[in-house]
Amino acid sequence: MKTAPSPSNPALLERGRSTIQKNFIRPMIRESSPVAMPTVSIQGYLYLVDFGTGSSQRFHRVNKAKECSCGATYCQAIEAVRLYLQAGGARAPDPEGMPPCPICGSKTYRDRNWDGKYTKELGWRCTNGGLHHFLQAKTERIKKNFAEHPWLIPPAPGYPGVRRDELMTWEECEAINRKVFQETGYDPTA
Ligand SMILES: [Zn+2]
Ligand SMILES: [Zn+2]
Repeated sequence: MKTAPSPSNPALLERGRSTIQKNFIRPMIRESSPVAMPTVSIQGYLYLVDFGTGSSQRFHRVNKAKECSCGATYCQAIEAVRLYLQAGGARAPDPEGMPPCPICGSKTYRDRNWDGKYTKELGWRCTNGGLHHFLQAKTERIKKNFAEHPWLIPPAPGYPGVRRDELMTWEECEAINRKVFQETGYDPTA
């Protein structure tokens, strides 16, 4: 049977008390810290959010796609940038990273909703042709890719093989059809 630490050992008692204090105080500090307004500044193409010296993770970097460097989906820093922009804060410059539209050459901007689930390709929209040019470019790339590498399992004597488009594009097409329907109300499969 376990017994409580002997009161005749003051060092042990002291240690126990400070642990309790630490565990008790820490969550209180964390809860009260968002009250202090974080400062937002522009750093390259990103927004640098500074939560001040008291916070455990002081600096967060938020990009234009509303993603924070800390990886948290609902990071306070993203909200801080939103408020900063709402209050008329200067906007970060657009990254040069996005290549021009392969269909018409216009500028493109990121759209995470169209990131390739299977291909891991970045989603975007064309400033001129919108989503249509993204889908057109994607279709052409898929066609080209399958023309170059049609076989997932090449045919062998007595076995017809499996073409990539028989497996992959079905999933891609279905995902695209579903999104087209969600965005436009038009059902391509109907
Ligand atoms: Zn963050
Ligand atoms: Zn375009």
